[in-house]
Amino acid sequence: MTKIIENLARIEPKIAAVNPQQPVTIIAVTKAVSVERTQEAIAAGVTHLGENRPEGLLRKQEAINEATWHYIGTLQTRKVRQIINTIDYLHSLDRMSLAEEINKRATKVVKCFVQVNVSEEDSKHGLPVSEVIPFIKQLADMDKIEVVGLMTMAPLHAQEHEIRTVFRGLKDVQQQIKALQLPYAPCTELSMGMSNDYVIAIEEGATYVRIGTALVGSESEGMQ
Ligand SMILES: *Cc1c(COP(=O)(O)O)cnc(C)c1O
Repeated sequence: MTKIIENLARIEPKIAAVNPQQPVTIIAVTKAVSVERTQEAIAAGVTHLGENRPEGLLRKQEAINEATWHYIGTLQTRKVRQIINTIDYLHSLDRMSLAEEINKRATKVVKCFVQVNVSEEDSKHGLPVSEVIPFIKQLADMDKIEVVGLMTMAPLHAQEHEIRTVFRGLKDVQQQIKALQLPYAPCTELSMGMSNDYVIAIEEGATYVRIGTALVGSESEGMQ
């Protein structure tokens, strides 16, 4: 596999070329790689790590101290307790029962992205666009939840213009929520863009990109 430091040296200039003024945080998605490869990412200067399963997250956390942890996968309500106080960001808040469990189990405020299914594909998790604002309004009394932004995934095999439409749709709702000036939902951030579409996502305003394969690769050892 290519060295992570080389991958990073290819990715960072592409990000900066879009708009050097736009702050973009790269989250290295390490779900498909080993602890060793994750340590290589840290050594290469990556500071934000993303995992999509509780087991994988906890395994990486055991070996790595200094990182900002992002949980990017679907989170089952019964698994909230295992991980909620070990992460810095949750990218997959998509239902009231999950919000309630987080509010019950968290010992500090959790920075959350509400996951939106902009393309409304059946296979995807996340709220349809029309339900996002009503959902966020319902979070008003949950003192452990801060909605820092919105997250989406573009359809996998879509054409560029379709992907762009999805990212634009997410930004549009994000701006509407931000304008509401809810103290618990500043909603200034956009988590969108993966290995194949992060440049498009940044062009459409992404502030967090979640990059797995193009940055750390994938290896069967880390698969679960
Ligand atoms: C796996 C995953 C990624 C990274 O995907 P790549 O195509 O490998 O970059 C990003 N976001 C989520 C939610 C994922 O599950």
